[in-house]
Amino acid sequence: MATQNDDDDPQPIRGDRGASILGPQNVPLQRENPDQLASPYTDSGTIPNLKFSFATARNRLLNGGWAREVTVRELPIATELAGVNMRLKPGGIREMHWHKEAEWAYMLAGRARITAVDEEGRTFIDDVGVGDLWNFPSVIPHSIQGLEEGCEFLLVFDNGSFSENETFLITDLFAHTPRDVLAKNFGVPQQAFARIPLDYEHERYIFSGQVPGPMKTDIVRSAAGIVPHNFSHRMMAQEPIIADGGWVRITDSTNFPAASTIAAALVNVEPGAMRELHWHAADEWQYYISGQARMTVFASGGKARTFNYQAGDVGYIPHGMSHYVENIGDAPLLYLEMFRSARFMDVSLNQWMALTPPELVKAHLDLDAATLAALRKDKPIVVR
Ligand code: MN
Ligand code: MN
Repeated sequence: MATQNDDDDPQPIRGDRGASILGPQNVPLQRENPDQLASPYTDSGTIPNLKFSFATARNRLLNGGWAREVTVRELPIATELAGVNMRLKPGGIREMHWHKEAEWAYMLAGRARITAVDEEGRTFIDDVGVGDLWNFPSVIPHSIQGLEEGCEFLLVFDNGSFSENETFLITDLFAHTPRDVLAKNFGVPQQAFARIPLDYEHERYIFSGQVPGPMKTDIVRSAAGIVPHNFSHRMMAQEPIIADGGWVRITDSTNFPAASTIAAALVNVEPGAMRELHWHAADEWQYYISGQARMTVFASGGKARTFNYQAGDVGYIPHGMSHYVENIGDAPLLYLEMFRSARFMDVSLNQWMALTPPELVKAHLDLDAATLAALRKDKPIVVR
């Protein structure tokens, strides 16, 4: 008889509870979500969905690449942050644009050239590679272009209602401004705008381009100089915080001042290890880069629900709710935790208990002396 431990044919059975499925089955999805199919005994009550995969998001294909998004429309609980996964071919251009939301980014593969100009006319240009970040503040206009090898990246916006399809595009602006106004604005004849794209179907958005030359040939000098806080950051150049079963790199406004509204942690968990039980002051938007994870979210009032995640999945945890993230695969688990906050913060269950009078802790949980002595006054972050 099949059990939930049979990876090829998981069934909703744990011990003497549950029974095999007799009706239609989506076996690949069941395999990816064993803790939904057969939830642990400790799960209880109703908790909203906290998972959405980019693999099931609509992908917009364009001649320069593609883009897909996970927003509050895909994952209704995710009101604080939204994400976009974008691919640019070599030379592919994400059109010059701006938006109301701040844009935080993590480069997943390849390299790109990014540009921006701030309200004082100060310039920014950089070439970014795998593990590099950028952050464009609200309404600051910018562009992204794939270099020789093309690129793919994750964008995170500080509003769950953001949509990548509603950004302010430079071609859209030109197409919807009277020609005589354009002529007056730039001090040139109207016929200078004879070839601008007008048809919505032909908006640039993500379009093919030539791979640009060396960055120094692309630098435009401004009398106002360059932006005071660099809009890019080398996250992998940070010294990681080493834990027993992995490492974490934390980037927020303290070490990346441009990221004033989004804080992040890149977490690596070795096979069998676990991001410890903890919670935060802000909602957490997760992006899984590699590996396989199990996470239980405890929502108070006797409610808890367990989810499974893998590469390309988005997870979400409302603030205050306790959770752990366990590596249940045989390869390292790498994922991002992101928050709409200037500062990263987390509260460790282990540290809280270790720094509370032991007799008081014992009165609640009746733990023995050895367990009380094992509590850690430092914050373990990742445990084995
Ligand atoms: Mn943008
Ligand atoms: Mn967390």
